[in-house]
Amino acid sequence: MSAVPGFGAVLADLDERGLRRRRRTVRRLAHDSAEIELDGRRCIDFCSNDYLGLAAHPRVVLALIESAREHGVGARASHLITGHQQEHDALEEELAAFTGRERALLFSTGYMANLGLATALVPKGGRVVGDALNHASLIDAGRIARATLDWYAHADAVALDGKLAAGAEDAALVMTDGVFSMDGDLAPLPALAAACGRRGALLAVDDAHGLGVLGGTGGGTLEHFRLTPLEVPVLVGTLGKAFGSFGAFVAGDAILIETLVQRARTYIYTTALPVAVAAATRAALEVSVAESWRRVRVLALTQRFRRLATEAGLPLAPSGTPIQPLLLGGADDSVEASRRLLDRGYFVAAIRPPTVPAGTSRLRVALSAAHRDADVEGLVGALIDCIPRA
Ligand code: PMP
Repeated sequence: MSAVPGFGAVLADLDERGLRRRRRTVRRLAHDSAEIELDGRRCIDFCSNDYLGLAAHPRVVLALIESAREHGVGARASHLITGHQQEHDALEEELAAFTGRERALLFSTGYMANLGLATALVPKGGRVVGDALNHASLIDAGRIARATLDWYAHADAVALDGKLAAGAEDAALVMTDGVFSMDGDLAPLPALAAACGRRGALLAVDDAHGLGVLGGTGGGTLEHFRLTPLEVPVLVGTLGKAFGSFGAFVAGDAILIETLVQRARTYIYTTALPVAVAAATRAALEVSVAESWRRVRVLALTQRFRRLATEAGLPLAPSGTPIQPLLLGGADDSVEASRRLLDRGYFVAAIRPPTVPAGTSRLRVALSAAHRDADVEGLVGALIDCIPRA
């Protein structure tokens, strides 16, 4: 008998609908490859967000070790008490310079950055307008701010403009992913920014999956579209993806950042990021710029995957980023295909509702500079055998 009555039935219902999530235990086998052991089985990981292969880069690892030796592990307090240290300051300055903004502010996670942003900027009952396929943290941001939430059709700037025009008396915070995390496509940022400019709305872009990967210098989706800080005043970046580290930041002008320092509850009421993580992130940022071949490599692998998958007639989605979903539709089909791929030595997670809308379950392939050509070729061969065909 469980001490939490009622939830046994909830779990049984998830089982019945094929929606129960299962946690797996992973062991990384080599620092410079995507080979892992998953519940004891060797396979190639096609699910990580380590797009540039920096999570185990020797310089990043060394920076973490040396900093931990000097400063210890925990930051010991929140940023506004005694947790904020020089390494945090230096990383914030470097992130501000990297993104071309006046200031950047570290948060412990991207999830918390988004929640903090909305609670700081939107009064209770204010408006948050977002893309229908936004990441869960953007959805929850609006909820926790107790805002009036309004979703426009995916990547549809005309629909956004209509929503903003309809509520013209309220200033809105518009939130969107830069690269959509489950689809890999880009938000139409120039048109979204134009709509926000016309209607006096504030645009915040969460570029968790674009920063470090897209744009001529890894500046992300905004650099890709050549958008200025005036057009996109609020930029959220995460550090646990292309930068291979942990944490997140918001970048913007000095007034925005100071407002977050004063009002973002997920910034104020939590322990500061470990100093060694800040040190490792600084190293990762430097390596990502110095070793620009990593960005070129992951994008070349993406093109290679798409070419092979297209030739094989696989159900590719229109994505030019390292996130390459294969739309299968049914949750059961997706889970079964993922299981069969694992038997062949490739791990590609099945993504099901509620993460994606019902009927759009998929295999979500994520490419990394750590993959070898042979990994990608082998994956496509396995996909041909493992996914159900119409
Ligand atoms: N935003 C987006 C678009 C994401 O995909 C994610 C992570 N999957 C986050 C925010 C959350 O970032 P973090 O993992 O640092 O909490």
